[in-house]
Amino acid sequence: MSYYPARAVVDLDQIAANVTRLQEFAPRSQVMAVVKGDAYGHGLVPASRAALRGGATWLGAAQITEALALREAGITAPILTWLYAPGAPFESVLRAGIDVSVPAAWALAEVAAAARATGITARVHLKVDTGLGRGGAFFEDWTAVLADAVRLQSEGVLAVVGVWSHLARADEVDHPGVREQFGVFAEAVQRAEQAGAALEVRHLANSAATLSVPEVHYDLVRPGIAVYGLSPMPDTLPSAQAGLTPAMRLEAQVHLVKDAPRGQGVSYGHTYTTTEETALANIPLGYADGIPRHAGNAAPVLLGGRRHQIAGRVCMDQFVLDIGRGSGVQAGDVAVLYGSGADGEPTAQDWAEAAGTISYEIVTRLGRQVPRVYLGEGA
Ligand SMILES: *Cc1c(COP(=O)(O)O)cnc(C)c1O
Repeated sequence: MSYYPARAVVDLDQIAANVTRLQEFAPRSQVMAVVKGDAYGHGLVPASRAALRGGATWLGAAQITEALALREAGITAPILTWLYAPGAPFESVLRAGIDVSVPAAWALAEVAAAARATGITARVHLKVDTGLGRGGAFFEDWTAVLADAVRLQSEGVLAVVGVWSHLARADEVDHPGVREQFGVFAEAVQRAEQAGAALEVRHLANSAATLSVPEVHYDLVRPGIAVYGLSPMPDTLPSAQAGLTPAMRLEAQVHLVKDAPRGQGVSYGHTYTTTEETALANIPLGYADGIPRHAGNAAPVLLGGRRHQIAGRVCMDQFVLDIGRGSGVQAGDVAVLYGSGADGEPTAQDWAEAAGTISYEIVTRLGRQVPRVYLGEGA
């Protein structure tokens, strides 16, 4: 039984088209579509196939489980995985032909042990922290990891095929931090090449840098959010201006419509009160489905041809709209929470602004129990 009164409609052709568009921004680089977080909530395997159809030649999966799931689905494209802890199943990763990011000496040792155990030469991308202050080794430590890695490479245990890093502020136009990170990265690449690494791919650019910092495109760009048609820099380069279209449309059927008097408090805590005789519509999605509670009295929803702001608090499984009398809206009608905007519906970006977050979080947090319905080739 898979009945649910809501669904996320994902347009796979749009994902493919977004990748094709991103390739135009980085014409000399390969595109690694980042599909972490269940492809930002769009569905790992269908979204990955669509991205490959659109021209991506690599897939980036943060979690090893996601990377392995791509292989189990029969996807043969190069895959990079980068987030794990000691004791991770590196032998499975190597047997599946998945490239591994190495951010530290302990990780290099574990990957090398798995390579020896399986007899498979591990393909590693050495991750340098050029200033994000998150993943990868800071430059000095990184050079030590590099030295160990090239020694293991000369023993045939592994191949250093990539050097990579991640930017902190590529979404801020002309931020000097991008140039600083670029400088450290260029030095890391040079060190690796001098040390004898046979680099296939040097990569630094996320969506924001793919769209706006061509100097850092290198051999491979790693867009995530833009693949799904949302902008990482909505104030300076909205998605429509970049030629990208949101691929996901979140819809729910109205559970109940009823007339309500003036002065009626709505939902827990009565943080909203009707100001006239009106009608209330219950929408059967709530924070258990990933609808942010912060969207209460804030986020817009399209219903009956009009946008309504959520009335009162978002509950676990539902929220309420104040739709006025005479709208003609009935139980079963479809409310659109967000989509491409083409039919007057709000976008995930509108929801992000209403809830004080970013579009990434809006789409990624959508509960897995909300059915994904696919449109387009491969659906
Ligand atoms: C998430 C992520 C990306 C993609 O970032 P977007 O801002 O979604 O384009 C690229 N590289 C790494 C390492 C990431 O973690």
